Amino acid sequence: MSTYSADYSLRRHNTLALPARAEFYGEIENLDQLEAARRFAQERRLPLTVLGEGSNVVLGDRVAGLVVRLVNDDLAVEPLDGQRVRLTVGAGHNWHRLVEQSLQLGWFGLENLALIPGTAGAAPIQNIGAYGVELERFLHGVHAVEVATGERVRFTAAECQLGYRDSVFKGRCRDRFIIHAVELELSAVAAPVVDYPALREDLDRHLSREPEPRDVFEAVCRIRRDKLPDPAGTPNAGSFFKNPIVSADAARRLLRRYPDLATFPAGEDRVKLAAAWLIDRAGWKGVVRGEVGIHDRQALVLFNRGQARAGELLALARDIAASVREHFGVALEMEPRCYGCRF
Ligand code: FAD
Ligand code: NAP
Repeated sequence: MSTYSADYSLRRHNTLALPARAEFYGEIENLDQLEAARRFAQERRLPLTVLGEGSNVVLGDRVAGLVVRLVNDDLAVEPLDGQRVRLTVGAGHNWHRLVEQSLQLGWFGLENLALIPGTAGAAPIQNIGAYGVELERFLHGVHAVEVATGERVRFTAAECQLGYRDSVFKGRCRDRFIIHAVELELSAVAAPVVDYPALREDLDRHLSREPEPRDVFEAVCRIRRDKLPDPAGTPNAGSFFKNPIVSADAARRLLRRYPDLATFPAGEDRVKLAAAWLIDRAGWKGVVRGEVGIHDRQALVLFNRGQARAGELLALARDIAASVREHFGVALEMEPRCYGCRF
């Protein structure tokens, strides 16, 4: 007998509110249930797809195979010395709740990553980052199960190969491992990172002393609530495209033509371009087409007006990418991952 629901609606499990249906769907609380799901899929030769809170995916009308959501949200705290602690957190733990909990316990570092939607288990997949900080600073290890064999594996932080919105789980190990717990190391010594311009400006406006981690947390929440559309009211998947990283030469050529192009150093001979600037200048900001649109205050955010399906959304995304390529010669890479559809 199957414990999985057949032909299950995933609409409330993706923040774009796309009307996808899973061939089979189940929720996973522990490693035994994970192994049972893996076997269920393997015995029937079905693909196995893992979802967290669905805030970085585009789901086609039908997602074939078994879709599972990890809902294990346990949190273990291991003091390392007087100043450092290791947190081992279940993959299903809500990320923002973890940020709040760590601050309440007096363990610092995650404050810039407040209000990022999603689960702890998905955080290493794209090395979540915001306001000048990336998960990479804190990740110590990842506990995973290999889909093909059921083998339990621990990846060290180095083995995760974290990069800019990237990791081994988007490359060589894509869809090959299910993460069931994540280890982070945090510090009892506050060391706020406040050099990101929007954050600095907000803190200068609201604070007349040196910021503490709680102040940074509140500032990040304030900026995000003010600027970013809440998926509850405006279904979206955050930034739809990654900021492209180009050679310093290519950036120089673009800057000669567009002196106000937003650029940031991204390692030796590499420059990061603001994708939002490119999309805006190509004329897409605020455009609404059928059931989909580009947000009028944040050109990186594509949204569902209510009745969109993946095909319509991806057609818009392709047109945006083609027009940015035509205007600036820059390729845009989609950030959310597609299941049951293609970019
Ligand atoms: P999902 O969207 O459910 O899954 C994303 C990918 O991870 C899928 O490929 C899925 O298969 C895989 N995955 C999920 N869980 C597991 C697991 N346990 N094991 C193996 N694979 C798994 N991202 C940022 O980096 N910075 C931001 O500031 C940011 N802001 C956002 C704001 C909004 C409004 C939205 C909607 C999104 C934003 N994002 C941001 C993107 C998103 O929040 C993150 O990528 C987040 O980590 C996704 O978590 P999730 O649980 O929703 O993953
Ligand atoms: P913003 O402050 O308007 O800045 C636009 C872009 O410029 C950002 O994408 C950011 O790159 C880059 N940038 C700005 N100042 C920078 C600096 N000093 N050094 C390096 N890069 C800089 O951005 P926003 O859209 O309001 O987002 C604020 C933060 O939240 C950003 O860090 C962004 O990544 C994050 N965010 C991410 C998502 C997502 O889905 N991935 C969604 C919403 C917000 P980075 O993106 O590399 O930081």
